[in-house]
Amino acid sequence: MSETEKRKNFITEIIDKDLASGKCKKIQTRFPPEPNGYLHIGHAKSICLNFGLAKSYNGLCNLRFDDTNPSKEESEYVKSIKEDIKWLGFDWGRREYYASDYFDKLYTYAVELIKKEKAYVCGLTLDQIREFRGTLTKPGKDSPYRTRSVEQNLELFEKMKKGEFLEGSKVLRAKTDMASPNLNLRDPVMYRILKQAHHRTTDRWCIYPTYDWAHGLCDSIEGITHSLCTLEFENHRPLYDWFLKELGVFCSQQIEFARLNLSHTILSKRKLLYLVEEGYVEGWDDPRMPTLSGLKRRGYTPSSIRKFCDQIGVAKFNSIVELGVLENSIRNELNKTAPRVMGVLNPLKVTITNYPEDKQEELEAVNNPENLDEGTRKVPFSNRLYIERDDFMEEPVKKFYRLALGREVRLRYAYFIRCNQVIKDSQGRVIELKCSYDPETKGGAAPDGRKVKGTLHWVSAKHAKDASIRLYQPLFIKRNPNQTEAGKDFTSNLNPDSVKIIQDAKIEPSLKNAKPGDRFQFERKGYFCVDSKLESEKLIFNRIVSLRDTWAKIKKKNK
Ligand code: ATP
Ligand code: MG
Repeated sequence: MSETEKRKNFITEIIDKDLASGKCKKIQTRFPPEPNGYLHIGHAKSICLNFGLAKSYNGLCNLRFDDTNPSKEESEYVKSIKEDIKWLGFDWGRREYYASDYFDKLYTYAVELIKKEKAYVCGLTLDQIREFRGTLTKPGKDSPYRTRSVEQNLELFEKMKKGEFLEGSKVLRAKTDMASPNLNLRDPVMYRILKQAHHRTTDRWCIYPTYDWAHGLCDSIEGITHSLCTLEFENHRPLYDWFLKELGVFCSQQIEFARLNLSHTILSKRKLLYLVEEGYVEGWDDPRMPTLSGLKRRGYTPSSIRKFCDQIGVAKFNSIVELGVLENSIRNELNKTAPRVMGVLNPLKVTITNYPEDKQEELEAVNNPENLDEGTRKVPFSNRLYIERDDFMEEPVKKFYRLALGREVRLRYAYFIRCNQVIKDSQGRVIELKCSYDPETKGGAAPDGRKVKGTLHWVSAKHAKDASIRLYQPLFIKRNPNQTEAGKDFTSNLNPDSVKIIQDAKIEPSLKNAKPGDRFQFERKGYFCVDSKLESEKLIFNRIVSLRDTWAKIKKKNK
């Protein structure tokens, strides 16, 4: 199925029905981020769903910043959110809206509700309001201010707007039902006083609408037909509907779906912000972060993320998706697209004693065995090479088929070599191998038909470039990082080994022109992406993902 083809789920069933019954002619969705942090992979699910539905039904999707809370919102976040949505491959055209654009309209609607005796100014403190609200088993108690006259309410509300009251001294509340079994319907707060500047309306307002009050109306004003949100809002839907019905405005329909939870990861902006602010990570775009900017820097492609979102689908019950599923989506894509190269992460010197010191040759290497159209490249070979330190064992264990004293292996695209001597330093550490090569085995096969069991990657020491490599592990050790011991928070589950930095890797010279964002498969080592933040001439590679799914093992360990 192509990305734009409709995938059936319970939401498309609702839409199909609404279109068939004529309830709506064209569908309109929206993605409503609050600009109080960077977008994460959970938001990608919502973006793909909202923009995807609009696209497949030939409808529209708005980008609406839900900027009703002045204290936590910043323009930096607006900018990053827009960049990330574009990067993910979606376009809102000119339909960029802000909840704050509707502050005047929302105020007028609130006045209308007051006039209909459906809203009142309440002088209880927030603590008192909570106390009066009651619980699931205890009915609420009416506020003593509930019976104020329309005139009094209008006057007080205007004074609230003019800044004549202190923060926290008054709120505007809907007059719904203090006995409702749904706590959200027990006279919810619509406006609170916050004497804080807003990133767009600056100091024009000192009363700000709550989410419940603003969200449905913004949807209605924009003519959103299907307003998709996560399951936590299911209990808010009666209130969403109540406001729209009381005001007699266009009735958008709220539909809830399960949020994405990803194992070994946290998907909460508040907690991600905490990691950034407390320096647990380098920043929002740290390659270990589940943010879109982090995944981008790590080397994930937009198409792999879209594919992942398509694959996990939408459902009505919460679950945790394994991080391995996300990794598989980039692995499968890069297997088809990433050029193969050789890089030695932990170099061990090899000298080919029977290869002339001053000789070098160019060997032909295949760029991508999955796509032979990508051709070949030349890799220089000489008498001094590097191989991977763990491709040699002094005392080879069972099933170790790589290099050992007296053994013969194949060097990828080159020759068979045999290890004849092991050189050690004064501490007994192996520092060099003396090997001989068989000139008859050029290209990797012996004319006499003898076989070798191991094939190693390598680079020519004289030609190799230096590189730094960052190897990543999941940011959290626990599958669900929110499960903590008593008295500890989610940071106690951070993985102390989530990044390993290798300073002195050696990579083949064809990589000298690699640019930030370029992706490669280092043969036998995984997929890597050139980091976007270069510190010097030396290239830095982030490992996007290993070649094989290592999750089965990790999962077992953490059960
Ligand atoms: P967070 O919990 O990370 O702060 P949020 O819901 O407060 O997330 P918003 O900026 O309000 O963040 O979210 C914008 C949209 O993205 C909302 O419609 C929300 O339902 C959706 N969304 C947020 N997190 C997820 C998730 N994990 N899975 C699916 N959709 C999500
Ligand atoms: Mg939110």
